[in-house]
Amino acid sequence: MEERLQKIRDEALKAIPEIKSQEEWEALRIKYLGRKGILPELLKQMGSLPAELRPRIGQLANAVKKEIETALNTRQVRVPSGRQAAPKTDITLPGRFIPPGKLHPITQITSEVCDIFERLGFAMAEGPDVELDYYNFEALNIPRDHPARDMQDTFYISENVLLRTHTSPIQVRTMERQRPPLRIIAPGKVYRCDSDITHTPMFHQVEGFMVDKGVSFADLKGLLTIFVHQIFDEQTSLRFRPSFFPFTEPSAEIDILCVICRGSGCRVCSQTGWLEVMGAGMVDPEVFRMVGYDPEEVTGLAFGMGIERIAMLKYGIDDIRLFYENNLRFLKQF
Ligand SMILES: [Zn+2]
Repeated sequence: MEERLQKIRDEALKAIPEIKSQEEWEALRIKYLGRKGILPELLKQMGSLPAELRPRIGQLANAVKKEIETALNTRQVRVPSGRQAAPKTDITLPGRFIPPGKLHPITQITSEVCDIFERLGFAMAEGPDVELDYYNFEALNIPRDHPARDMQDTFYISENVLLRTHTSPIQVRTMERQRPPLRIIAPGKVYRCDSDITHTPMFHQVEGFMVDKGVSFADLKGLLTIFVHQIFDEQTSLRFRPSFFPFTEPSAEIDILCVICRGSGCRVCSQTGWLEVMGAGMVDPEVFRMVGYDPEEVTGLAFGMGIERIAMLKYGIDDIRLFYENNLRFLKQF
């Protein structure tokens, strides 16, 4: 009897470490410890033993039972279930690196421009990308035969609906809703049928305007000088060239000292030493009449610039398409 118990124990302890699944584990448990298992069956024969042997054999049998149980339970911890035995998680591995996102350079420049004007008391406004002909042209004093209406420049959706070609319709929409005094800065996407290294069919503009009693060209010069000094630097001088826009009178184009050569002449500035950055002027009285303002009572200034143009000059980029190709090696630099 003693020998048989020893043999059962040795067999069981040899088999248990070989268990590979929950099913095997369960089979082994039943084989040794189940109601009709080897050990209980053997214990049933205890009755036939001489009385003096029973305590010793009984003790041994219990010890063997306990040993097998312990071995099985330990094994169970390692193989919780054949089906659920998922790949082990190595908690000592370092985590995967997720690169932090960044703002697109165009978004960065747009908020920089708006921030400067917001510090000067301007409020932000927005308008629809799909615009009525009336707001894009007519209310801005652009007559039916103006070249800006040419099919080559404008994406028409229908005869009276188009993709806005500039952010100036926001001026009209804001003035229709509010009374002076007004100081508005309005960024947004604009669309024109044009594509080469300095033009894309969609680009970004920021439009600013100010309407009040006694607003003068001196205010315009002052505002734009502060702006250029803040977005570029204090050494960047600027000049105003007479120009023409249908919605401002007088109108000017604003050049800054070339940021590359500082005025001595280079490829970027076509050897002139100056770079055109924006258009501006005093709001045409005709525009005021369209929105029901009295041009005898209030005057206004307005200016508009291309965000891509400012970004290209600020960062020395020579191809506008780089902004839209989503090349991470390019975008990561900002
Ligand atoms: Zn230059």
